[in-house]
Amino acid sequence: MSKEKFDYFINGEKGKYEVVIGLEVHAQVLSNSKLFSGSSTKFGADPNIQVSLIDSAFPGMLPVINEECVKQAVRTGLGLNAKINNYSVFDRKNYFYADLPQGYQISQYKNPIVGEGKVLLDMPYGSKEIGIERLHLEQDAGKSIHDMDPLSTYVDLNRSGIALMEIVSKPDLRSPDEVNAYIKKLRTIMRYLGTCDGNMQEGSLRADVNVSVRREGDKKFGTRCEIKNVNSIKFMQMAIEYEANRQVELLEEGKQIDQETRLFDTKKMRQDQ
Ligand code: ADP
Ligand code: MG
Repeated sequence: MSKEKFDYFINGEKGKYEVVIGLEVHAQVLSNSKLFSGSSTKFGADPNIQVSLIDSAFPGMLPVINEECVKQAVRTGLGLNAKINNYSVFDRKNYFYADLPQGYQISQYKNPIVGEGKVLLDMPYGSKEIGIERLHLEQDAGKSIHDMDPLSTYVDLNRSGIALMEIVSKPDLRSPDEVNAYIKKLRTIMRYLGTCDGNMQEGSLRADVNVSVRREGDKKFGTRCEIKNVNSIKFMQMAIEYEANRQVELLEEGKQIDQETRLFDTKKMRQDQ
């Protein structure tokens, strides 16, 4: 059987560029109740009915960890051939947003529950190993709804406090096809283990996509940009292509890449097609 060769480069005027991608995947944990409260996690309920005093951040409420969510994270870690840490710590990540009533997200920062692991991809050019940096547990935020009223934003707290696993890959991915294979592999592993339903339409699986480019053969990575909260594989692939080309153009003009967070405009990208 003849193997195809890896061939995803961006051809600039001045040479060939390699694309470097790292993903922060947010996977909703399959559990009956939330990470620190007894409210239901069921998708599709009427707004704001699955909200306890903890989820809505009433003063004096004490979060109590849901043992099942911890088990689910450990199961997922084992599925990623990863190191399970016996010691892990939750921290408060402070930020202000209307759909975050606490004013902070409870998340793991320095001591995640799962450490380094790896995932194997079957690509047409052979098997490729993608490193996992870590998996940590954190709370999901509520949902802001901007399109129900021209003047107001509505907030639905049903999602507030649901457990998320953030799975951070090493910058080992090199093409939109590898991202496609990686997301599908993660989803297969989690569905098999029953730790996440992987339903992207319902937002159970979404990702922040980090992209940089470098001249073919360069050892050093380029500066990365992060595209936040992309919820379909197709959009991830389009966002990567768009962002990598943008960076190559800047470099060819002798300009620098600023490390920044960018949003992917799905409507405009569609028009470009
Ligand atoms: P942050 O919270 O600042 O986004 P994380 O460590 O959570 O940092 O995630 C960084 C992500 O960016 C990882 O998935 C990593 O693989 C990826 N990454 C790091 N450096 C690069 C780079 N030069 N190009 C592309 N991706 C990168
Ligand atoms: Mg990030």
